[in-house]
Amino acid sequence: MSERMSKELRDAAAPAPIEIPEEFAPALLQWYGENARVLPWRDDPQPYKVWVSEIMLQQTRVEAVKPYFQRFMEVLPDLESLAQAEEQILLKLWEGLGYYNRARNLQKAAQQALSEYGGLPSTAEELIRLPGIGPYTAGAVASIAFGRPVPAVDGNVLRVVARLMAYDGDISKDSVKKGVAEALVPSVVLDPAAFNQAVMELGATVCLPNGAPKCGGCPVRRLCLAHEMGAELSFPVKKAKKVRKIQQKTIFLLEFENRTAVCRRPESGLLAGLWGFPESDDYLEQDEAELYLEHLGFETETVLPLKKSKHIFSHMEWHMAGYRAVLRKLPDFGARRILLPEGTVFLTKEEIEARCALPSAYKAYTKELR
Ligand code: SF4
Repeated sequence: MSERMSKELRDAAAPAPIEIPEEFAPALLQWYGENARVLPWRDDPQPYKVWVSEIMLQQTRVEAVKPYFQRFMEVLPDLESLAQAEEQILLKLWEGLGYYNRARNLQKAAQQALSEYGGLPSTAEELIRLPGIGPYTAGAVASIAFGRPVPAVDGNVLRVVARLMAYDGDISKDSVKKGVAEALVPSVVLDPAAFNQAVMELGATVCLPNGAPKCGGCPVRRLCLAHEMGAELSFPVKKAKKVRKIQQKTIFLLEFENRTAVCRRPESGLLAGLWGFPESDDYLEQDEAELYLEHLGFETETVLPLKKSKHIFSHMEWHMAGYRAVLRKLPDFGARRILLPEGTVFLTKEEIEARCALPSAYKAYTKELR
């Protein structure tokens, strides 16, 4: 292939440049000044609070984050307490929020920030070197907490810009995210903290995903090309979703007197180091569940079915059957026939609630503890 032809092909593949109209930032900032939601981390945008809230808000709704944020700040109010916290306390504070590596990375980042900088650094270039901080979070913390003029491009921002400019490129590509970030730089400099929060706020409350933008109340509708074309729902252009893997399992609430068996999950892999219940890797019907427990060496009084349930992770679905099995006697873990995971313990409901971080994947069965 000639050099000229290969350059033409490269140019054809490059995303079209994005240009944000000059009137966008003033219109948006005025709207944000009048409509910003009151959120616990906005009252007092200290770097530590902004950072923790941004990590919690990844993949999680604002309303779900609020109580977690408040509890987290009560127990671990600063970088030092987070850096020194016991892992099980940290995971307990995160219980139900999902994506538990976020919590572990928060702690690693706190330790690294204290040892290298004596606190959270203020530039996006330094922040991005800490565990769990990507380009979006680095931009958000640097601009909101430190007033640095850097953009923060998350899914909300990409959606707003794609609709505003009727941009038909693939917004999941890093090159497009970079192009959007560059296009936003002239707008960000006016007021970095307010501008970045305003675009995200517009995406979160007005320019909504899934076919529901509220264009009638949008402060930038007269600038919006998708709106002008009557084609808001055609943007952003979506690539086909990957099919999730389905894993079937059966969860057992093994009860003896007022205690139930719980076990710690392995230190690596999905939900690493969190707690769960004894389970089998198959979806068992009632008679199969009874045989399975017998095979493991349990003597049961009753085995009763619990609700079937489903939990969706980003890449996988768990389809679960559940059974409550009341044991005649407490198993002898020294006996060879008892094949439970190492570290299985029988605890009361109160002990489980106080000590064990049980992920929301088990919610249907956690609710059945008694
Ligand atoms: Fe989004 Fe509608 Fe506003 Fe355009 S006019 S930015 S589609 S809410």
